[in-house]
Amino acid sequence: MVPIPSYVARVLTELEARGFQAFCVGGCVRDCLLGRVPEDWDVTTSALPEQTMALFGGQAVPTGLRHGTVTVVSGGKGVEVTTFRVDGTYRDNRHPDSVTFTPSLTEDLARRDFTVNAMAMDLRGRIQDPWGGRADLEHRCLRCVGEPERRFREDALRVMRGMRFSAVLGFELEEETAAALVRCRELLRHIAAERLREELVKLLCGPQAAQVLRRWPQVVEVILPEIGPLVGFDQHNRHHCYDAWEHTLHVLDAVEPVPVLRCAALFHDMGKPECFALDEAGGGHFMGHPVVSRRIAENIMTRLRFDNATRDQIALLVEWHDHRIQTQRGLRRALSRLGAENLRLLLVLQRADNLGQAPVYQPRRQAELTELEKILEQLLAEDTCFSLRQLAVNGRDLLALGYQGAEVGWMLRRLLEQVVDGELDNDRAALLAAVRRNSGK
Ligand code: ATP
Ligand code: MG
Repeated sequence: MVPIPSYVARVLTELEARGFQAFCVGGCVRDCLLGRVPEDWDVTTSALPEQTMALFGGQAVPTGLRHGTVTVVSGGKGVEVTTFRVDGTYRDNRHPDSVTFTPSLTEDLARRDFTVNAMAMDLRGRIQDPWGGRADLEHRCLRCVGEPERRFREDALRVMRGMRFSAVLGFELEEETAAALVRCRELLRHIAAERLREELVKLLCGPQAAQVLRRWPQVVEVILPEIGPLVGFDQHNRHHCYDAWEHTLHVLDAVEPVPVLRCAALFHDMGKPECFALDEAGGGHFMGHPVVSRRIAENIMTRLRFDNATRDQIALLVEWHDHRIQTQRGLRRALSRLGAENLRLLLVLQRADNLGQAPVYQPRRQAELTELEKILEQLLAEDTCFSLRQLAVNGRDLLALGYQGAEVGWMLRRLLEQVVDGELDNDRAALLAAVRRNSGK
């Protein structure tokens, strides 16, 4: 079992010393028992928020007083300390109308979503578990505390959380919980985009993400209707042994569990149904689908409020996913266009894309990608020039030669292209000579 870190133990100790009850609670207890290092430590206490504030003085920040939460800064980290509470009735499938404090830990645990998240642990490692969370943990089972349908209706975010925990922990949903989750899926429409995105991205990065998506496409479709046309879509193409959705899931499974790659995998073929055409021999083609996929992916990411940098990076990978790099020059050009980090990610995505195709097409393409990766690492080790930053001349040089305004950037990019294509050496004298030739100066 993972021990309670000292900065959290300190908070519990001080609360107990003043006669309050205090426990670690929720996800951190679950993760401790699983031997996983918790992401964050939450504390639940019988102390009222103002009592916690008074006790911790300058180290206490009233971050959510309405819900009874005070953040205590301890050892340079924040620990959320929340008073035992019960939630009133829920409006809008997300927010309780009111919260009431209670002296009872058991009542506090009853408001929590799943039994494995409804355990508390004191300083001495004693577990409070009125809802059978420990047994469910042992059986790797996710079960709502109380009646599942009522719990999902109260707060529909739990629908996403259920799928997310299943994907991340590899737990099965208990039968009633699973049935209610599916019945309540439409309520996800009431949930704020940011919350949905957070849960979706965590879900996608779970080791069992593909299984969860495969089992509940109709639930995911409520927030991502764009996957609908992929499910069961026969590609009529000899490269593909799976329908478009199953292919997508294989690709997702084959990339590392980082948000950018998992999202790019999920979106990469969304444009296929729209671009589908059959040739005379009955073969399916998807001309231009990467650009359409990119557009669809951008719409999704804007709707779900991804930050701009992440959105652009994922969109770039989606647009380039089918780009075949066949020569050294092609590789250098791609490096110049995408940068080293994105090109590495692209090759990972392409490897996975191929692993989601019919097995006979795999050995050759995998070998080709291995070769490309090797050459790329060589180019990077040799410090080959592929960006304006590395070019042996800069804007000042061109200004000195009489270039002005937009011409400067244009000429620099042209020089870079020629260097990348091997037509010019990245040598200051050679580049300046080329500029002079070009301008007749
Ligand atoms: P993570 O590993 O992402 O931190 P977590 O289970 O700790 O997972 P948090 O969002 O940190 O999730 O919430 C802490 C605890 O608060 C949960 O374990 C659960 O007991 C309770 N909780 C959080 N969100 C909800 C919710 N929507 N409905 C009911 N209980 C919730
Ligand atoms: Mg947590």
